[in-house]
Amino acid sequence: MDYKSKIRTIPDYPAKGIMFRDVTTLMSDSEALAAAIEDLCRPFERMNVSKVAGIDARGFILGGAMAVRLGAGFLPLRKPGKLPYETWSESYALEYGSDALHMHTDGVEEGEQVLLVDDLIATGGTAEAGVKLLRKGKADIVAAAFLIDLPDLGGARTLRELGVEVMSLVT
Ligand code: 5GP
Repeated sequence: MDYKSKIRTIPDYPAKGIMFRDVTTLMSDSEALAAAIEDLCRPFERMNVSKVAGIDARGFILGGAMAVRLGAGFLPLRKPGKLPYETWSESYALEYGSDALHMHTDGVEEGEQVLLVDDLIATGGTAEAGVKLLRKGKADIVAAAFLIDLPDLGGARTLRELGVEVMSLVT
């Protein structure tokens, strides 16, 4: 599948100078969406993933479908103020501004095999917050999977330096 042709680029969104990779165009294409879920899951089919942790919000769309495909449960890593139970939080810097991710403190069990998922990795700050939360819960992170890796921004390298395997469909 030629995923690149399915992704729309919006210049100067959400701030001047940023080329935003808009994955809604890929997700609205039934064949591209199905192929992406299939390709994102393929390396993990025989790895006994017990939970897919998706990052708010586009990671939920991919992660929910991947969890069903892999026979795993789904764990939401959410922006502040969204989770109803007790949470841990990790703040991080974005390409533009800063934010935080929260995870329910009972979201993972010790030693649980968890696959981290988001639509895109840029600087890696968001995914690194996800890794820290999962490690707080003593989960075993199988890998982190993304539709898009922007390698010039170094996020995938940062995750690998933290000992996390990284895969993506498009660079
Ligand atoms: P990072 O923390 O790696 O710098 O940024 C990645 C996070 O910001 C992801 O949660 C991703 O959804 C969002 N993000 C940053 N830039 C883009 C972009 O160009 N397109 C999309 N779809 N998401 C982006």
